[in-house]
Amino acid sequence: MNIHEYQAKELLAKFGAPVPAGFAALSVEEAVEAARKLPGPLYVVKAQIHAGGRGKGKFKELGPDARGGVRLARTLDEVEAAAKDMLGNTLVTVQTGPAGKQVNRLYVTDGVDIDKEFYLALLVDRGTGRIAIVASTEGGMDIETVAHDTPEKIHTITIDPATGIQPHHGRRVAAALGLSGDLAKQAAQVTGALYKAFLGTDASQIEINPLAIAGGKIQVLDAKVGFDGNALFRHPDLMELRDETEEDPAELEASKYDLAYIKLDGDIGCMVNGAGLAMATMDIIKLNGMFPANFLDVGGGASKEKVTAAFKIILSDPAVKGILVNIFGGIMRCDIIAEGIVAAAKEVNLSVPLVVRLEGTNVQQGKDILASSGLAIVPADDLGDAAKKIVAEVKALG
Ligand code: GDP
Ligand code: MG
Repeated sequence: MNIHEYQAKELLAKFGAPVPAGFAALSVEEAVEAARKLPGPLYVVKAQIHAGGRGKGKFKELGPDARGGVRLARTLDEVEAAAKDMLGNTLVTVQTGPAGKQVNRLYVTDGVDIDKEFYLALLVDRGTGRIAIVASTEGGMDIETVAHDTPEKIHTITIDPATGIQPHHGRRVAAALGLSGDLAKQAAQVTGALYKAFLGTDASQIEINPLAIAGGKIQVLDAKVGFDGNALFRHPDLMELRDETEEDPAELEASKYDLAYIKLDGDIGCMVNGAGLAMATMDIIKLNGMFPANFLDVGGGASKEKVTAAFKIILSDPAVKGILVNIFGGIMRCDIIAEGIVAAAKEVNLSVPLVVRLEGTNVQQGKDILASSGLAIVPADDLGDAAKKIVAEVKALG
């Protein structure tokens, strides 16, 4: 689960990270009111969407010459103008995709004069099984580009969970950022605060880009924080920070049914039980020359309701030209699945070709149920056969 910048900064401030003062705003009036509460004379008005690259982003409604989703303002009138430009409009950044995201919320912060920008992030390094600190002098830029073009400018420091963070970790971060003296101490302090926040919230990612030197002080100017969804039950307070309007509607619906669904760019909708089988199914669709429209794992014990919900979610995607169901009945019985598929196909008025491959417990009963359903379900014998058939069916429709 991801949260907005203003929420991330409020959270990190509680753990002792140095964050400029600021207030969230849902309207132009609230934005001006927020600025009034700040000392000035420089303000920053920032679009709150769950995507980075806002500074260099463009608003669809404003034309190519208008400024992006992070604007400096020197008067309350400029704050008002920036808020009017942004609220309700669609911001397109390198991370939103071409459709962009509507801006419904702003963050008005105390503006600072930046001397230097750095990059500092904490994440889980699966290779070492540790929390890794990633530090770079190349702040305010797209870190993937830095990693690609100048990998030597990225420093990674992992922390042994048995010892936790130690003073030497902070010193190494400071050295990686080229800092000495009091600024080095501040960088070490920020690193410690971020580490505490990471552990304390079961975060999966804390990214500060930029961490800046401004007015002789190290400050967190942007913050992206994501949490480990599997640990959220331990943090009811964090769950309240969820902004469902930022999530893909189909993925949101899927999460209500505990379905692992991820929207992809292809034409073939997939419904599979088991993540590994789902991956294999996507691969074999590609092998046959088409692309999956989604990843969908209905899980081990899918009920009829779950299967119906899964079907509806797949079909809600206008790109889907055919569906491939691939179920291996282990604990799950194939006859139960077949009943679910038939019920769902009838309920949703299935309008695209459907190929079903069943294997495992009670497979013959399952196949009989599909065959006698009166629906145009194409049965398949194995995974290769299924993929060939759905691709042929979709191609036959043109
Ligand atoms: P992003 O574009 O979505 O990553 O948004 P950021 O919050 O990182 O802002 C983009 C850029 O705006 C930063 O890299 C800074 O250069 C600039 N910026 C952000 N806050 C301030 C500020 O208080 N003062 C100044 N001068 N620039 C800022
Ligand atoms: Mg940033």
